[in-house]
Formats: sequence, structure tokens, C-alpha cells
Amino acid sequence: MTDRPSPPKTRTLAAQALGAIEPETKGVVLPLHVASTFIRDPDNQYRSGYSYGRPDNATVRHTEAVIAALEDAPEALLFGSGMAAATSVVLALPAGAHILAPAVMYWSLRNWFVTAAPRFGYRVDLVDMTDLGAVRAALRPGETKLIWIETPANPLWGITDIAGVAEIAHKAGAKLAVDSTVATPLFCRPLALGADVVMHSATKYLNGHSDVIAGALATARADEFWTAIKTVRAQHGAILGPFEAWLLMRGLRTLDARVRTQTESAMALARRLADHPSVAAVLYPGLPAFPGHAIAARQMSGFGAMMSIRLKSGERAAIDAAARVEIWKRATSLGGVESLIEHRASVEGPNSPCPPDLLRLSVGLEDPDDLYADLDRALRAANA
Ligand code: PLP
Repeated sequence: MTDRPSPPKTRTLAAQALGAIEPETKGVVLPLHVASTFIRDPDNQYRSGYSYGRPDNATVRHTEAVIAALEDAPEALLFGSGMAAATSVVLALPAGAHILAPAVMYWSLRNWFVTAAPRFGYRVDLVDMTDLGAVRAALRPGETKLIWIETPANPLWGITDIAGVAEIAHKAGAKLAVDSTVATPLFCRPLALGADVVMHSATKYLNGHSDVIAGALATARADEFWTAIKTVRAQHGAILGPFEAWLLMRGLRTLDARVRTQTESAMALARRLADHPSVAAVLYPGLPAFPGHAIAARQMSGFGAMMSIRLKSGERAAIDAAARVEIWKRATSLGGVESLIEHRASVEGPNSPCPPDLLRLSVGLEDPDDLYADLDRALRAANA
């Protein structure tokens, strides 16, 4: 009997960036490839596989390979932002396609679905994706080409049953794409649950340091749809820049350690905030009372580090509390090592499903006792 070593786990692959070694110096970190153009072979071929920097780049490819490994996907693609990644999926659909998107989701993409996608000829219906019956009812067999979901979904953190929606989509001949930014590949593998494409705003946890804007897609199959997405990226010049891809690679290597610690802190904070006298509700999938908790527990191996709180004293107290914190940073975005607090309704405007008394919290890597004490002080002062 041979004593074969088991293949490395994704955490090992990420920590070592797939074990790549720079061949010339034997450096354990790969160099940054910045060339925009490449020498053609004398016989007119491009044997290196690279001809021009808009369709492809070696540093981008390496970072993509790590993301593909994390998602257990045959291929991944990087884009100049999460929005570029998401909209490239839509723009790869045939003209006139019908799309289902969530009623509650990342605000700018929802806005794009409602205001811009129709200008490209797409017909979009917004649906409560936490209700499989509503998804079934909204589907137009033969016309619906894409179901887009986000789980957990900004900023209320509703959970969508990925396997349930995948079954509904595939029966109707539609693709399923999942924005898994908040779950991260550490806690959820949408492709294994039946999704066709998984998307990340790599600006968030994948990079983790609030210094890169990037988007990622990974596919279940290198099929025609995937080729169409690659064509959109090349034609629209939506590829990520090599320096950003290199920085993203550095962030990815610590994904597991960062997100696991942030999630532990988020769970501790959610439990404490649930008992806070100023807090009406804590929206966090890790709390057993949260409506999507059972599905989250089934399809995720951790509940992530995003939550929202609703304040008993309403909008003014929420804005006031956000103004009084010192350790939490009053800023948009999420997934960085520094904790962020945001009054989402101020960002999302009048058509938002976000309640005005809500504060969104992105839990970072600071000591959770410091984070609680800072927020507790701000909440009590805001209510005074
Ligand atoms: N998806 C989610 C869940 C997000 O939070 C964001 C950004 O906040 C995006 C997509 C868009 O990503 P980007 O800002 O990288 O374009």
C-alpha cells in the first residue's frame, strides 16, 4: 500500500499562492508583470500565450488561479471592480434576455439592474430571493436567462437557498450567478451547491486591506457562456490592472486567518448587541433567531463578519451614534481589517428597502472588547 499525501487544502494553497516560485531568483513571491505588449515569434505565433495586456496578463492569471482554487473552479477571471465583474455576466447574455435579481441586494448593482440594464435591452424583475415560491412565480420559462442572487444580502443579510434556486433556474434553462462577497470562499462554495458562476467584490474580503478595487468571477464550467464573459471583459477593457492583481494576491494569502478571526468577533458582538438597551434588532445570520439562520447553517461553514443593527430611537439616533464612534470608522465598503460603520439609508436614497434606523457594521480585526466598548458608548450617548 502506498502512503500518498492527501492534496493540499485550499488554505494551504492560498497561504502559498499555489506554491509558485519565481524561476530566475527562486523568490517565494512572484514578480509583477506590467508589459502591455509582447514579442511575436518569427513564424508569426505568440507561443508565450500573451499578445496584449487588455485580454490577459500573467500577474492577473496567477491571482485568478488562486481564486479558482479557493472556489474549486476550473477558471476564474478578474475585473477592474466588483461592478465590472457583475455587469460583464449580464452583458454576456443574449439581447432581450429576462433576468431575476433580488429586491434586497448591494444597492449600486440593484440600481444598475433597474436603470441601466433595460437600456441594453434586458428585462429585469426584482424578487424576494429568500422565498423560493416567489422565485418560481417570477420565472418566465424560455425567456429567463439569468437568476442573480446575493447571499447573505446587503444590508439586511437575508439568506437565499443556493441549491433551491439553482434547481429552479436550471429547470427553466436559466443560469444562476451568486454574489458571494460576504460569505467569501472560506465559508460558502456556491458552485458546489449548483451555481453556474460565483462573483466577488474582491475589493472586500479577498483583498482585505481597503487598498484595491477589484472584482472576481469563477465558473462551474469553461463553457460557451464563460467564453462570452471573457469576450465582454476583453472587448470592454474591464480586466484588473497588474499592480492591483499583485496586491490582491498578497491579501488572498491571509484570507483564512483574517476572515475567521473577524467572524469570531462578529459573533461575539452580535450576541452582546442583541442585549443592548438601545438596539431593537441585530440582523446577523449567525444568531439562531435570524430568519435565514437554518439555511445559512446548512450552506455556509461560518456566518461571516457583516451585520446590521436597528436602533430603538430611530434614524436620528442612528446617524448620531455613527458620528460618535472613535474606533469604528464611519465609511462605506466592508471586508477590510479596520471595522466600518455606516448609516446605509443615507447612501441608498429614497427607493431603498433599507430601514432608516439601521447601521451596517463591518467587523474588522481589532479587539472585539474595544469594538463593543466604543459602540456601546456611542449608542448610549446618541440616545441621551
Ligand atoms: N457586491 C457587494 C455585496 C458589494 O458590497 C459591493 C460593493 O460594495 C459590490 C458587489 C460592488 O463591488 P465594487 O465596489 O468592487 O465594484
